[in-house]
Amino acid sequence: MEWSSIRYKAMYSVTKRIDFCYGHRLLDYDGICKHPHGHNAVAEIEIRTDTLDARNMVADFNDIKRVVKTWVDRELDHKMILRRDDPLVALLQGLGEPMYLVDSNPTVERIARLIFDVSREQGLPVFRVTVWETPTSWATYTA
Ligand SMILES: [Zn+2]
Repeated sequence: MEWSSIRYKAMYSVTKRIDFCYGHRLLDYDGICKHPHGHNAVAEIEIRTDTLDARNMVADFNDIKRVVKTWVDRELDHKMILRRDDPLVALLQGLGEPMYLVDSNPTVERIARLIFDVSREQGLPVFRVTVWETPTSWATYTA
């Protein structure tokens, strides 16, 4: 194939990084992640456009921060993210510990999808959310 024949669409992209901590465990899973443990996570929120706005921006980093970081800080940061039917839920509820409950296993893939969906619901046209669980492991959910 000749390079000159390849058609592509030029895009701008901006990415905001948001750090947070969470605990979780995986049910119906045979590995060390079946035990409660925590992560220092990094979420990358990417927005793409083919044209810039009147400010010459894809999106204002402060708008991404205001929408996503506010929600992550309130709902996920320093919380246990657990499957709704996890037996730990009743125990932690009794102790007054904060949790964020999901309907399926709280894997890093599920958390990336969660942040993507919440961002879209709040009107942010995200293209990609990547969540780094460790410096060598990450999951991405893309539009
Ligand atoms: Zn984990």
